[in-house]
Amino acid sequence: MQLLDGKAISAEIKSEIKQDVAEWVKSGGKKPHLAAILVGADGASQTYVASKIRSCEEIGFTSTLLKFDADITEDELLEAVNSLNNDEDVDGFIVQLPLPKHISENRIMEAVDYRKDVDGFHPINVGRMCKGLPAYLSATPFGIIEMLKRASIETAGKHCVVIGRSQIVGLPMSILMQRNEYPGNCTVTITHSRTKNLQEICKSADILIVALGRPEFVTPDYVKEGAVVIDVGITRVEDSSKKSGFAIKGDVNFAQVAPVSSYITPVPGGVGLMTICGLLTNTLKATKKEIYA
Ligand code: NAP
Repeated sequence: MQLLDGKAISAEIKSEIKQDVAEWVKSGGKKPHLAAILVGADGASQTYVASKIRSCEEIGFTSTLLKFDADITEDELLEAVNSLNNDEDVDGFIVQLPLPKHISENRIMEAVDYRKDVDGFHPINVGRMCKGLPAYLSATPFGIIEMLKRASIETAGKHCVVIGRSQIVGLPMSILMQRNEYPGNCTVTITHSRTKNLQEICKSADILIVALGRPEFVTPDYVKEGAVVIDVGITRVEDSSKKSGFAIKGDVNFAQVAPVSSYITPVPGGVGLMTICGLLTNTLKATKKEIYA
């Protein structure tokens, strides 16, 4: 078994971006600027946003955080989105999900200028990705693709099973894995809560990508000997032995599954760290206007 070490790979990518930014700025380019909108006081969301902002500082980006109370109205939030759309200094921005229930996430996502949509959630970016056109790839799938690439994992002709069909992980992941390029060219099966014989389907996967949000759901009964296992899940579970009072768990029972897999991502220290790299890469592309003029 080999560990797909998100900590090491993301550090490598960040150092490449940092160097790229330094050269870009030295040659007269604008310093990349990523903004984030955070609504409410959800602990996990606060941690994710803080880590995105910290990463910006590390690699030489400007960052801005706009915080709003959970009772902000949808119209007020749309106004904030518009102000970032129109702010010429901001190259890209994200609206941290989930949003409070009274706000339509789709409406907010669609209001983001697709040229600044560095999370890759806008229908134009999703549609362009599906057509194989240049687009901001959604950050988590981008991070997984980069991990497979950097570990030189063979994908052509392999059976890739994705558990979960969410707009932000499962669906884009399934599309990227079937593309006619590397990593890709897989035969993809996408599964969800209504899938019958899930265990049997997963057991036939050469590459198993797990994104359902149920801690330690995947056990060796779901995994073929020698499979590549990518664990996207991040759930906080109560743990009185930790100072914070909680532990972070993935969707895969790592201790049991690691011995039967060829490659596996840990949680924490796996896909989560790669997701930030996707965001930073997209922001640099936005600054350089590599995808949209
Ligand atoms: P989501 O929107 O809740 O989607 C979960 C998907 O899993 C749905 O498609 C659901 O099926 C499916 N599912 C639920 N229970 C299932 C079961 N028993 N068997 C088969 N499929 C089942 O979740 P998400 O946003 O994709 O996130 C998934 C996990 O990844 C969460 O733990 C989240 O925190 C984590 N995450 C991590 C990162 C990262 O950077 N590492 C980024 C995003 C998300 P239905 O469609 O039928 O309901």
